[in-house]
Amino acid sequence: TYAVTGATGHLGRLAVDALLRHGVPARNVFALVRDTAKADELAALGVGVREADYDRPETLEPALEGIERLLLVSSPTVGDRVTQHGNVIRAADAADVGFVVYTSVLHADETELALAPEHAGTEDLLQASGLPFAVARNGWYVENYTGRLDEYLERGEIVGASGDGRVSAATRADYAEAAVSLLTGDIADQQGYWELGGPAFSMSELADAITETTGTKVVYRDVSPDEFTDILRGAGMDEDTARFVTSLELSIARGELETDSPALENLLGRAPTSLVDAIRAARV
Ligand code: NDP
Repeated sequence: TYAVTGATGHLGRLAVDALLRHGVPARNVFALVRDTAKADELAALGVGVREADYDRPETLEPALEGIERLLLVSSPTVGDRVTQHGNVIRAADAADVGFVVYTSVLHADETELALAPEHAGTEDLLQASGLPFAVARNGWYVENYTGRLDEYLERGEIVGASGDGRVSAATRADYAEAAVSLLTGDIADQQGYWELGGPAFSMSELADAITETTGTKVVYRDVSPDEFTDILRGAGMDEDTARFVTSLELSIARGELETDSPALENLLGRAPTSLVDAIRAARV
């Protein structure tokens, strides 16, 4: 039996789909959701739906009862995540879950990326739990960019402060499939830390790929970190968030979102979806 947390979210839903595609019978798949009212589509797949709120430990142990393998999709609530994930890991231990796969971030233990400490903290909790686990250290989603395609095309530019830094991004669907590959595989082979990313591109290369794919010219305009923060604030972002987002650009500039690991390709058993294909898919 398998369970996926955050199953009403993008990645969780794709992981449920990937488990079913992998051939796991729907009766052996449990979608763990914060809000069961949002789970009609999941229930229609024939999978079990259980309430599991990271902030409400009393929901977690019952949700994990009888579960052998768990995909813990990281919470979106930056700042609360170590506590939230700790609640899930404790419940998994109490429920005797046999294997946990956690979605972390590239180079979580050796990067200045502002998002990394909570992931590294969660990895430490897994390590300390004694539970068998695998960590999928995911790179950026390519959808972070393709989701803004209309805006890029309208403006004719991508504005950033990441210089020539490259991002090894992959589609959420590929990360979901890789997570399922870890979850369903031989535990002894899958345990440990997996640096996962697709083919790397700089923002100039992204602009070129968009230009080639759509026929509309888009360029990359690199600005200073201060200028970038000002642009974000001008667009209505509060000061702290603008600084946080700027720090992510600087992480890209330092190469912290890049990996040359072949692990994603190996787990998928095929090349990850290309940037051009992801741009094409976003236009449909
Ligand atoms: P989504 O925002 O689509 O999904 C997040 C899921 O977490 C939702 O199902 C949401 O439930 C659930 N959730 C939120 N709070 C709780 C809670 N207290 N208890 C239980 N579940 C909760 O994110 P994605 O699927 O796109 O991404 C998955 C994770 O990856 C993110 O949560 C974040 O940690 C990380 N991420 C990675 C990025 C990258 O580029 N690699 C970019 C952005 C995020 P509900 O549907 O009820 O809101």
